[in-house]
Amino acid sequence: MSKSETSNAHSVATRLAHMGRPWSPDMPFVNPPVVRASTVLFEDVHAMHDPASKYVYGRRGTPTSNALADALTELEGPACAGTVLTPSGLAAISVALLSFLGAGDHVLIPDCAYRPVRELCDSLIPRLGVEVSYYDPTIGAGIAALTRANTKVIYLESPGSLTFEIQDTPAIVAHARAIGAVTIIDNTWATPLMFRALDFGVDVTLMAATKYIVGHSDAMLGTVSANEATWKRLKHTHGAMGMFTGPDDMWLALRGLRTLSVRMRHQEQSALEIARWLQTRPEVAQVLHPGLPQDPGHAIWKRDFNGSAGLFGIILKPSSDEAVAAMLDGLQLFGLGYSWGGYESLAIPCELTGIRTATTWAAEGPLVRLQIGLEDPADLIADLDKGLARLNAAG
Ligand SMILES: *Cc1c(COP(=O)(O)O)cnc(C)c1O
Repeated sequence: MSKSETSNAHSVATRLAHMGRPWSPDMPFVNPPVVRASTVLFEDVHAMHDPASKYVYGRRGTPTSNALADALTELEGPACAGTVLTPSGLAAISVALLSFLGAGDHVLIPDCAYRPVRELCDSLIPRLGVEVSYYDPTIGAGIAALTRANTKVIYLESPGSLTFEIQDTPAIVAHARAIGAVTIIDNTWATPLMFRALDFGVDVTLMAATKYIVGHSDAMLGTVSANEATWKRLKHTHGAMGMFTGPDDMWLALRGLRTLSVRMRHQEQSALEIARWLQTRPEVAQVLHPGLPQDPGHAIWKRDFNGSAGLFGIILKPSSDEAVAAMLDGLQLFGLGYSWGGYESLAIPCELTGIRTATTWAAEGPLVRLQIGLEDPADLIADLDKGLARLNAAG
C-alpha cells in the first residue's frame, strides 16, 4: 500500500482526496506529473517482449492515464474491474455501444437519451447491421415486452439529461440479466457519488467527465467503467479503436476529482433551493427535478440514489419564444451555453421536437434547463426573479 492509498472504509469524500496518487521516492510530489509520451524506451529486447512490462506505448497507458483510470475504478466501487478514458463523453458512448454490438444484434435506447446518442443510433449503428429501437424511459419491468431474441444491449440514461425521467434501473437490469443482454448506463448526472451504477448490477457505466469530473468547463473527456464480465471486451474495443486522451485533460480531470464531492454537494443544495423557489412561481408549470417529492421519479430516485445533481428543468406556462428569449437573454449570472457540471451557472431553452419517438412530450409550455453552479443561490434566485419579470412583461 502506497502512502496515498486509502482503505475502502473511508467515506468517498475522504477517498477523493487520496485516490489516483501513486507515491514513490522518485516521485514524492502530492500530484502525479503530466506525462507526455508516445515512445516508451525499453532496457533491452527481452523487456520489449515481456507482457509484464508496465508501459509499452503512449496510447496503451501512461502514469497520467493510469492515475486517473485507477481513481475512477476506485470511485465506481468494488464491482468495477477497470476504466477506460476517451476524448469526449460521446466517444465514451460510442466505445461502449460498439464493444457489445455487431451485425444482427438489437439495441434498446431510452427515449430521453442525450440527443447525439440518437444521432449515432440512427446513422452509424444501423449501418453496421444493428437494429435500434427506442423505449419509454419509465417503462421499468415492462422492458420485457420490448426485448427480442437478438437484443444484446439495453442502454439507460437516468435521469434523462433534458427531461429528467428516473429509470427503474434494477428492474431493467433484472430482465437484461435473464436474457443475457448487456446493460450500459450514462451516469453523467449522478456520477458514482450519487449513484453507483455497478452496485445495481449494471454492466457498464459511463460519464461525460467533461461535466462534473473536470468540473471547470475547460476540458473534454469521457470515462467508461465495466464489471468483471464485460471489462475485457470493453478494454479490447477501446484499444482497437485507438482511443486515447490528451495528458493535460486527464490531469485536469484528476484535479477536478479532488473537489468533486464538495462541488456536487454544494450544487445539490443550491439547485434544490432554487427548484423549490421556482415551484412557488406562477410562471412555472412544473419543475423537473427528481429530488422534489412532487416529481414522478422521486420514489425510485430516493430508493436508489445518494443525492441529486445541480442540473434540472422547468416547464414554463405557455409563453412565446420571444418571451422565453427575453427571460434568458437578460440573465446576468446564468450563461447561455451547452454543457453543464462546471462551477458556473448556465441556462438553455430546450427543443424536443424530433427527439421523442417512443413517447410523446405532453408539456404545453416551453422547457428551460438550468445548470446551477457554485454562485450564492440567493444571487441566482434574484437573477431568475428578474428573468421571470421579463418573461411576464413580454407576454
Ligand atoms: C454532455 C453529455 C454527453 C457527451 O459528453 P461530451 O464530453 O460533450 O462529448 C453525454 N451524455 C450526457 C448526459 C451529456 O450531458
